[in-house]
Amino acid sequence: MKHNPATLICISAILLYTSCNSAFHQPAPQPITAILGAFDEEVIPLKEQLQNKHEQTIEGIKFVTGRLKTRKVVIASTGIGKVNAAMTTILVIEHFRPNEVIFTGIAGGLNPQLLHGDIIIAEKIAQHDLGIWTETGLENRGEINPFTGIRNPIFFPADKQLLKLAERAAEKLDLEKIKIDTEERTPKIVKGTVVTGDVFVVSTAKRTELRNRLTADAVEMEGAAVAQICYQHNIPYLAIRSICNKADEKVNEDLDRFTEIAAKNSAALAAEIVGLLSTNQTVKNDINDK
Ligand code: SAH
Repeated sequence: MKHNPATLICISAILLYTSCNSAFHQPAPQPITAILGAFDEEVIPLKEQLQNKHEQTIEGIKFVTGRLKTRKVVIASTGIGKVNAAMTTILVIEHFRPNEVIFTGIAGGLNPQLLHGDIIIAEKIAQHDLGIWTETGLENRGEINPFTGIRNPIFFPADKQLLKLAERAAEKLDLEKIKIDTEERTPKIVKGTVVTGDVFVVSTAKRTELRNRLTADAVEMEGAAVAQICYQHNIPYLAIRSICNKADEKVNEDLDRFTEIAAKNSAALAAEIVGLLSTNQTVKNDINDK
């Protein structure tokens, strides 16, 4: 049988694309959600809710699998910072082939309207310390995706379906009241912009700079590294964070007072989102459609 040259070129191009694109992600046969935090306190409230718990250590990182509500999940602490977060994300992808990844944890608030314990759902997330250093300072720029050769965006958008689920989960969630000085209030949950960098921000000047340059609402040290890997591997991703400090000179005092409640609040929203993913539901990745 003869094929016309155009058909042959087309078939070869498809074969070449699939063989070269090593980031082509094949989720596990049974749907599984990966939930990551940076350090143990951020994931312990979730591990405590697991049924059929099984723990394994891969390359020094502990992964716990089990059932959270009706969903199979794998939970891990990545370690603090972008390199540790990237390392653990690749391990979780390679060994568990998750359908989606959710990051949960604490953050420094940059938007003055966000108070301790409030939760921010990252509609978009960027590395604030990535780009070109010019005479006038840092100009943000995404890296080139090694699988496609195309430059990544500065901001990685959240997966649309996970974002919708998070909004629904937020409506259902009943968070404990939190006492700040003399005032008692129920933490609020909002959508916004999160920025990530390999620096722990404890400076009013830096928090103002991040707010002005990137209109950021919160700062942390892992979320956008995980976002970049999920984007490059076509895996739906969502980051949620609860405010534990204001990234200013009072950070240490705030960490002591609010880490536990902030980590718990963020984990509670993550659990609620997972509860909306039924046992076999799959989230279609839409990140690269935007
Ligand atoms: N209990 C931890 C606290 C670390 S705080 C410890 O003793 O090591 C840093 C972590 O919280 C990082 O994972 C980061 O993502 C987040 N974070 C909270 N506040 C932050 C801030 N002001 N600047 C940057 N990251 C912050």
